[in-house]
Amino acid sequence: MSDMMQVVAIDGPSGGGKSTVSRGLANRLNFTYLDTGAMYRAVAYACWEKKVEPGDGEELKQLLSELVIELLPAMNGENDVQVLVNGREVGSHLRTPEMGMLASQVSAIPVVRSHLTQLQQQMGKAGRIVAEGRDTGTVVFPKAAWKFFLDAKPEIRMRRRADQLRSQGADVDEQQLLAQIIKRDKDDSERAIAPLKQATEAVYLDSSDKDAEKIISLMYDHILNSGHAL
Ligand code: C5P
Repeated sequence: MSDMMQVVAIDGPSGGGKSTVSRGLANRLNFTYLDTGAMYRAVAYACWEKKVEPGDGEELKQLLSELVIELLPAMNGENDVQVLVNGREVGSHLRTPEMGMLASQVSAIPVVRSHLTQLQQQMGKAGRIVAEGRDTGTVVFPKAAWKFFLDAKPEIRMRRRADQLRSQGADVDEQQLLAQIIKRDKDDSERAIAPLKQATEAVYLDSSDKDAEKIISLMYDHILNSGHAL
């Protein structure tokens, strides 16, 4: 027990509510929120901007060695963390479904995974973080004291994403969005390294018929009753 880290790891498919829940839980615990998906999106954005093919070649290695990713707390009223890539705020470019698909593609590349995993472990080494992603409980922080797997029905996840995109002024084709979500989750679950899967000791929660506040409360109560010191 003593080598456990004061880390909450929240994994699950896209649109299950991980970001809202992770941020809310981090606030309640006074922990730092670590959005690992934003880091994969940042690499995808950098590849897109510099026209680097997301393969395993030298160009990508070079890009990673020069890449500086900074995650800053969300601005007032905003949902997502601010993301700086090489000093420039690019958050709004990262949240499109297309960048999500590209992030999923780059995230299957070994050199990208090992680079970002190391950065994330570095960011979390002092503990007191809530990390969300696909492999935070299985690979990045296997010694996290608290692990959750947050799921929801695909149609519900699609509807949440659609509402979010519309609130940002985007046109949404719901059938296309649903197909993208299903494909991204399938690719994320079937890749060879660090696939999306529930850690054996993770608590499974389904947010299909629960709002974020309810999920945060369930997690918070579980953490308080877990016996691991806060
Ligand atoms: O969570 P988000 O939708 O922002 O993640 C974008 C993509 O980044 C995911 O579809 C997944 O392919 C990848 N990702 C990952 N491992 C993580 C977080 C995200 O592979 N820990």
